[in-house]
Amino acid sequence: MILLDGKLLSENIKAELAAEVDLIRERHDKIPHLAAVLIGENAASQVYVNSKIKSCEQVGFKSTLIQRPADVTEDEVLEIVRNLNDDPDVDGFIVQLPLPKHIDEEKVTLAIDHRKDVDGFHPINFGRMAQGLPAFLPATPYGIVEMLRRYNIETAGKHCVVVGRSNIVGTPISILLSRKGYPGDCTVTLTHSRTKDLPAEVRRADIVVAAIGIPEFIKGDWVKEGAVVIDVGINRIPDATKKSGSRLVGDVDFEAVAPKCSHITPVPGGVGLMTVTALLMNTLKACKREIYS
Ligand code: NAD
Repeated sequence: MILLDGKLLSENIKAELAAEVDLIRERHDKIPHLAAVLIGENAASQVYVNSKIKSCEQVGFKSTLIQRPADVTEDEVLEIVRNLNDDPDVDGFIVQLPLPKHIDEEKVTLAIDHRKDVDGFHPINFGRMAQGLPAFLPATPYGIVEMLRRYNIETAGKHCVVVGRSNIVGTPISILLSRKGYPGDCTVTLTHSRTKDLPAEVRRADIVVAAIGIPEFIKGDWVKEGAVVIDVGINRIPDATKKSGSRLVGDVDFEAVAPKCSHITPVPGGVGLMTVTALLMNTLKACKREIYS
């Protein structure tokens, strides 16, 4: 069994990005600039945004954090988005989700200029991705395909079962893996909460992508010998043996599933780190006008 090491891969990719920033600096070109908007005090969101800002610093990108309390109005958030759209120094920005209930996430996502949408959530980027046109790919699926590519995992003709159909993970990764070319050309089954006999579907998979949000949901006897398992889940569960009283687990029962796999991602240390790195890759593309001129 080979562990798909998101930490090592991220470090390698970040070193490549840092080298590119050095060249940009030598040429006196513009340094990539990512802005992040964080609303409220959601602890997980704070951790994610801090890690994105820290990663920018590691590779030499400029970063800006815009924070507002949970009671900010929707109009104020839309105003922040408009200002970032219009700021020529900002190449890309993200609005960290979830937003407080009184703010319409769809409205905010639609207000983001798709040319700066480095999270790849805007319908223009999603539609272009589905059609195989240049687009900012959603960060988590982008991180997954980059991981498959860098580990040279064969995908053509493989049967991939994706569990979970969210707009940010399950649905886009099912599109990317079914697209023509590498890493793609899979035959994809997209499963969800209404799927009948999910274990039987997962047992047919050469590649499993688990994005459900339920701790250790995918069991050992659901997975075929030799399968590649990509665990997207990040769930905190109580653990009295830890100082913090809790630990992170994925959507896959790692202990039971790992011995059967040819490759598997750990949690933590797998897809999560690749997501942040994919965001940096998108920001560099935005700065270099690689997707939109
Ligand atoms: P979501 O809640 O938006 O979607 C979950 C999906 O799982 C839904 O489509 C639902 O149909 C499906 N589902 C729920 N119960 C099911 C069941 N019993 N059987 C089959 N399918 C079921 O979640 P999401 O945003 O896609 O996130 C999924 C997980 O991935 C979460 O743990 C989240 O924290 C994690 N996540 C990780 C990263 C990362 O960078 N690693 C990024 C995004 C999300």
